[in-house]
Amino acid sequence: MGQCGIIAVHHDMSTTVREKLSRLGIHTELDLLLHLPIRYEDETHLFLIADAPGGQTVQVEGVIINTEVIVRPRRQLVCQVEDSSGVLVMRFLNFYASQIKTYAVGKRVRLLGEIRNGFFGAEMVHPKCRIVHEGESLAETMTPIYPTTAGLTQKILAKLIKQVLQSPQTLQALAETLPGMILNQYRLISFQDSVTCLHNPPPEASLDALQLRTHPAWQRIKFDELLAQQLSMRLHYRQRRSHAAPVLAPVNKLTQQFLAQLPFKLTAAQIKAFNEISRDLGAAHPMQRLLQGDVGSGKTIVAALAALQAIENGFQAAIMAPTEILAEQHYQKLAAWFEPLGISIAWLSGSQKKKQKQTALDDIALGNAQLIIGTHALFQNQVLFNRLGLAIIDEQHRFGVHQRLALRLKGLRSDRVPHQLMMSATPIPRTLSMSYFADLDVSIIDELPPGRSPIVTKLIADNRRDEVIARIRHACEQGKQVYWVCPLIEESETLQLQTAVETHGDLCKIFPDLNIGLVHGRLSAQGKVAVMHAFKQGEAQLLVATTVIEVGVDVPNASLMVIENAERMGLSQLHQLRGRIGRGSEASVCILMFQPSLSDVARKRLKIIFEHTDGFEIARQDLLLRGPGEFLGSRQSGVPMLRFADVEQDKELLAAAHAAADKMLSDFPELAQQHIERWLGDRAECLRV
Ligand code: ADP
Ligand code: MG
Repeated sequence: MGQCGIIAVHHDMSTTVREKLSRLGIHTELDLLLHLPIRYEDETHLFLIADAPGGQTVQVEGVIINTEVIVRPRRQLVCQVEDSSGVLVMRFLNFYASQIKTYAVGKRVRLLGEIRNGFFGAEMVHPKCRIVHEGESLAETMTPIYPTTAGLTQKILAKLIKQVLQSPQTLQALAETLPGMILNQYRLISFQDSVTCLHNPPPEASLDALQLRTHPAWQRIKFDELLAQQLSMRLHYRQRRSHAAPVLAPVNKLTQQFLAQLPFKLTAAQIKAFNEISRDLGAAHPMQRLLQGDVGSGKTIVAALAALQAIENGFQAAIMAPTEILAEQHYQKLAAWFEPLGISIAWLSGSQKKKQKQTALDDIALGNAQLIIGTHALFQNQVLFNRLGLAIIDEQHRFGVHQRLALRLKGLRSDRVPHQLMMSATPIPRTLSMSYFADLDVSIIDELPPGRSPIVTKLIADNRRDEVIARIRHACEQGKQVYWVCPLIEESETLQLQTAVETHGDLCKIFPDLNIGLVHGRLSAQGKVAVMHAFKQGEAQLLVATTVIEVGVDVPNASLMVIENAERMGLSQLHQLRGRIGRGSEASVCILMFQPSLSDVARKRLKIIFEHTDGFEIARQDLLLRGPGEFLGSRQSGVPMLRFADVEQDKELLAAAHAAADKMLSDFPELAQQHIERWLGDRAECLRV
């Protein structure tokens, strides 16, 4: 639409104001119009002091009958304000000397704040206070309070916004982008009305509905924002789909052979997920699918089947994992599965010896290698695939947008783009996958393989370490294996390392008869692999580890895990770690040790992980606790974030926006484009993969 240039109406605006606005992300008139209040103050009523309800912001008016600066318990300005019903104390803990005069006895003031029962009786601390004359009229509308930055007052912001709202170009800037049928279907008010209303709510508007953002004006704004996100992501989805991809139709020879040699049957959920992938691979446009399932739900086998389908069509498949430990483990596992089928596998990692690496690179380029497994090393420049048909990215949240893109573009030496399968380590709440992952198709493995015994989680305060030691001894005597996870020390890797080494030393002294392994981030790649291998082979009974073992590690005989300082870890991390046990038929126990005197959030996290083992539920609670930002990891950079809508709270609007987006893209493409531009502007051009 482009009708909103750099704030043109305010030629007279000073550079400082301009700078401050840009600090708030306001560059255009439209930005200013969409700079919506964070809350409202109700200055349309006056309460009598004696009648004013507590626990909420109220406005009262009275005459100052006493003003003094007292110094005990600390220096403060205390004024008594009286109306026909009673007296109220107002207190300022920080004040300018000039305020002593301003609030002199006899002045009439209007106070806005919360009344509490304080040291001096009914009082307002730091109220918003204005000198008024008797009978001064009240505000006719709710007063919007805007998010702002130092040096930019509410008054200036409100004035600027008012000016823009009154300018003739504004009508055009607020032109409707939704077709009538969508407005009707979801009973939405017009965009212009909603913007006007939020800046200038009419007196009859419910303050609650405005504050809680359930008012129809807010609903419209949130719908629009969600719709813009959906539109841009679906558009990217369609664009990528318009590329050509190799057709990798099911051949069912290698896949059947592979299934026949597995010691177990696939779960129904695994079969369903693979069928969805298999169908996509057979299409002439690139698959862009996210495979999600709880920890231990068996995603690796589904990925292996997908790789086989590519290979039996004469193409290469690549699997990329975020850590050396995980890549190595995939390599071991897939080599054992695929070598009997006569498939050649190449392995690529950053720490590889030069000669080995060159051999691998040659095999990849010449097409001798059919399956390629590796870390980030896979998308370096010197890696040239011969015929890459499928790129599988494990633990997709660990990779940035550009890294995934790089691997995709590596593809083929033709204009065909490889299929892409992404896997997530932990489940993603439904609302998130509907919003931030709307540019992907999603397959979900929603059941665990049979025969897993549930994990029992115990919370034990750090001062009961002896009990924990006794449990470890008991478990090892019974031939079980144990993980000991050292505290996460984010501030210092050195300290974390030191702690791990010390813990290892301590445990060696306590258990001189046990073989105790130690794995941490500073070990060389081979070092890590050797330690993990020994543990997997049962040569070590106890493994002391930092959180490097967080993802993917699979040692079914390990059935006890101790996590130290669990209160410092995030929910998905705890869930991931705990998912390392409970993989065999043995009943497993996870002991979460914590330092007493927990923070509020830490207590909530531990309660959630203690009460739930279902990763989808944990993920949902995590989303409620933390918001989407952190959940998304590096994905954030490529995806339009939401300012107003909240995917969990606004579930219904999200579903509506989701449905409306497809309708608009097919039937109203121009409006869709205008809508994206209004909400995302140049951010709509972000590359996404
Ligand atoms: P994740 O989904 O966490 O990546 P994995 O793929 O590592 O899980 O699988 C976890 C464990 O479950 C592995 O040891 C795997 O061999 C085993 N497994 C996978 N599918 C089945 C199944 N259908 N029946 C029994 N065991 C299975
Ligand atoms: Mg895995």
